[in-house]
Amino acid sequence: MVAPLIGGINAGNVDRLSLQAVTPQLFAAARGGGSLTLALRKQQQQSPTDPTDPVFTALLGGTSVLVDALHDALEARGVQILTGSEAVSCLQSDQGKILTELSTGTISSDEVLICTPAAKAAHLLRSISPNTARQLEQISYSSVALLTFVFNKESIPGELLASGFLIPRTAQLLMTAASVGSTKWAHWDDGKHVVLRVSAGHSGDLRGAELTDEELILGLQADLQTTLGITDPAVATRVSRWPDGFAQYEVGHLQLIESIEQSLNKDCPQILLAGSSYRGLGIPACIEQGRSAAAKLVDS
Ligand SMILES: Cc1cc2nc3c(=O)[nH]c(=O)nc-3n(C[C@H](O)[C@H](O)[C@H](O)COP(=O)(O)OP(=O)(O)OC[C@H]3O[C@@H](n4cnc5c(N)ncnc54)[C@H](O)[C@@H]3O)c2cc1C
Repeated sequence: MVAPLIGGINAGNVDRLSLQAVTPQLFAAARGGGSLTLALRKQQQQSPTDPTDPVFTALLGGTSVLVDALHDALEARGVQILTGSEAVSCLQSDQGKILTELSTGTISSDEVLICTPAAKAAHLLRSISPNTARQLEQISYSSVALLTFVFNKESIPGELLASGFLIPRTAQLLMTAASVGSTKWAHWDDGKHVVLRVSAGHSGDLRGAELTDEELILGLQADLQTTLGITDPAVATRVSRWPDGFAQYEVGHLQLIESIEQSLNKDCPQILLAGSSYRGLGIPACIEQGRSAAAKLVDS
């Protein structure tokens, strides 16, 4: 139960992941000793959820709506946004400014908040804080591929009532999870088709990154036959790839992040880090990190 759920969400190996970093609620329940199920039930009773609330929520129009809204809100405040410009390095000037070298020029600033994945941040900080860069390089990543399959409703044997299912590693399938998009999201249900989103690839399986689109489609369609008995071909497919999409919060991750932050603060307190490599993979955790880092920089 825990391995497919926690391992699946993180595209990682639960034997290596930090319980404290990836599921603090489970960590708190496990620390108390005794039955994990009873401890989790108690946690749930202490902060009950409204049973009428939807289990899943999403942005109508897709996650890019959030990026567009942020872009517009920042521009409305007079913020200049440079796109198509890669940050190459951060250096400190004799006057104490941070000089960020971009592929399109150099920006001089009082403070910098780096929100790139850790491996890129390591590259940017290599000369300003070599010790921070070395530690950032210790964070590893998993790559996943997400395939969207659209089937005619008649191609699905029986009725798909669940929102999805997870596959344990021991099953040795290419598929790691499948969600029934047309059940999960009302706006995806046209009454005629079933939309399945199927993922492949995790920390111990590079096939999500290495297989061609055709190989992924064939392999996952075979797994859909094994798991759901679907033999008809899909009427439409889409392959989305997320190379190095999931930072692996391995045992000791939070201590590593603490040490990275201390080292960067010692060498260059005007630079902070935020994002999914550090203190939470999901979007809410990233927003929280961004807010907290921005507040620190404004107050400093
Ligand atoms: C398949 C998948 C499904 C997910 N589903 C969910 C979900 O349902 N709910 C949820 O909350 N989260 C989900 N997540 C996690 C979510 O995508 C992340 O929390 C979020 O994208 C992390 O934001 P970020 O800003 O830290 O990093 P990113 O979104 O990776 O952004 C980093 C940015 O830095 C830029 N960059 C990198 N290097 C440089 C450089 N040198 N110079 C300039 N720019 C650079 C990149 O181009 C990129 O735009 C999912 C992730 C994946 C991969």
